[in-house]
Amino acid sequence: MKYALGIDFGGTTIKTAIVTSDGQIISRGSVPTGMPATPERLLQTTVGACRRQLEEAGLTPADLCGAGIGMPGTVNQETDCVEYANNLGMTSFPFIRRLRDELGIPVSGGNDADLAALGEYMAGAGKGASSLLLVTLGTGVGGGIIVNGRIWSGCNDAAAEFGHMVIEAGGRPCTCGRRGCFEAYASASALTAQADKKAAEHPDSLIGKVYAASGHVSGKDILQALKEKDAAAKEVFDEYVYYLAMGITNLINIFQPDKLLIGGGISNFGDLLLEPVREHVKTYRYSRYSEKNTEIGIASLKNDAGLIGAAALTKVFE
Ligand SMILES: [Zn+2]
Repeated sequence: MKYALGIDFGGTTIKTAIVTSDGQIISRGSVPTGMPATPERLLQTTVGACRRQLEEAGLTPADLCGAGIGMPGTVNQETDCVEYANNLGMTSFPFIRRLRDELGIPVSGGNDADLAALGEYMAGAGKGASSLLLVTLGTGVGGGIIVNGRIWSGCNDAAAEFGHMVIEAGGRPCTCGRRGCFEAYASASALTAQADKKAAEHPDSLIGKVYAASGHVSGKDILQALKEKDAAAKEVFDEYVYYLAMGITNLINIFQPDKLLIGGGISNFGDLLLEPVREHVKTYRYSRYSEKNTEIGIASLKNDAGLIGAAALTKVFE
């Protein structure tokens, strides 16, 4: 059996896992990232987490075909530097190269959203596809593009920023400085913000009562209200699905991938989300008369996608 070390470097925690050649996680751990910290400190924290992970699994570096790490930023594949990781305060730091020197094993790095897509492609709901898009709906909207088994990251390792495609010119403001971005309509934060607004306008609705009691309507509250046929929740959700499907249709029109998977917190809505999205896309996609069309589904690896995708960089699956 071959093993790889997968690392998912997040702003709050650094997760590690030993991944087998059939895509199973046999041991896992996590440590606090400990922000704010210097890049050097973050490197040492990661090295410590990796060594502990090996120890816990009863393995030595010699048992591994290598390690892969997903970073919340841009990793330059030629220099093995983290070029830019906004939330970590890291610019042009040779994180991957240094990690390789410290651990004494091959280490490859990539963007965390790209690696989540690679994970789904290798061992999740994207298995068997030749091209795949993963659209992650969380605090923001991110994603990854896999073409013929490889990550497409553009000329500058910064591709697949699906969230910053404008779907409503002059629309809601976005953190990137533009208006009307997909992210401002299709992120989980956009859904709950709209639900709060609607709830305040309809105090007698189910979400209105939740709002009055707690000051906020969560994704879970919306899901529950939909199940109980709350009209206000349905109005918010229908609008959300309309914009989500518009963005997804745009992506399908451009890429026509074998599969498009929806991941992130919103994917917990399951069929309530999937069915109307499929209907909208079926109506509006350019390829509606084609015999073959993109399959739209829900990502299956949840929070493990990034760890498994990181491990996949080591070729443990080949
Ligand atoms: Zn934007």
